[in-house]
Amino acid sequence: MAAFREHITFSTLIGAGYGVVASTVLGFSPTQGILAAALTGMAGMLPDVDLGTGRPSREIFGVLAAIAPMFLVHHVIRYLKLPYDAETILLTLIALYFIIRYGVARLINRLSVHRGMFHSIPAMFIAADIAYLGYPGPNIRSKILIATGVAVGFLSHLILDEIYSVEWNGVAVRLKKSAGSALKIAGPRFVPNVFTFALFCTANFAVLSQMGVLDRPAADSPAMMALPAAQSPATSLPVQPSPLPSPQSGPQPAPWSTIPAQPAPPMFQQAQEPRRFAN
Ligand SMILES: [Zn+2]
Repeated sequence: MAAFREHITFSTLIGAGYGVVASTVLGFSPTQGILAAALTGMAGMLPDVDLGTGRPSREIFGVLAAIAPMFLVHHVIRYLKLPYDAETILLTLIALYFIIRYGVARLINRLSVHRGMFHSIPAMFIAADIAYLGYPGPNIRSKILIATGVAVGFLSHLILDEIYSVEWNGVAVRLKKSAGSALKIAGPRFVPNVFTFALFCTANFAVLSQMGVLDRPAADSPAMMALPAAQSPATSLPVQPSPLPSPQSGPQPAPWSTIPAQPAPPMFQQAQEPRRFAN
């Protein structure tokens, strides 16, 4: 097992590289790059929340209790319909700190075993999903940047644990008993597996739904409108081109959408032809 400091050093180095790539190649601002680097570095210690009541676990929960409330506070205030003033925000931050530092820490200590499902690929996705959902603001690219950083940091921990399970005694390579217990899809116990995969599915569903991937096509999209007219041109009502979106009508594009407006496809233009016969 790699030591706490080795995990942090490894994930911080990877995080620094990730931050540089984000701000130079991927077009993010230096601030976004530094934030991604910091969170990638911190995510490198996340799997070891299952270490029990030892010093590393206390340190991890100390950092987690300080950082996580900043991501969660806006969601908690909105969910509980609390007033959005400075005092409520500060009180919520303090309450979240104590809940995570002591409540969540005690619960995880009681329920988890070291190298259980916290050390797994599904847990990596859950951590990334939580970062995506918790990241404030509507900018989908920033959310993906941070979630990917958390996944990369988490993965660096799992990989380092597996590297440390290989021993070289000068003659031959030997695998420790812990080999394969970090970089895994599922563990040997049924209940933790079911719980983890239920959480994995829920978190992924929430992310995909927030991304709009699961949305059904709008009812007034050109393809949907052209279909009835093409099927019965003589009896159908003339199809009008869809009006430009106004504040009162139709589904609005997401504010972060950068997809330019497309010209009407040929199918849509044909749909207007029955108008001749109807008149
Ligand atoms: Zn570990």
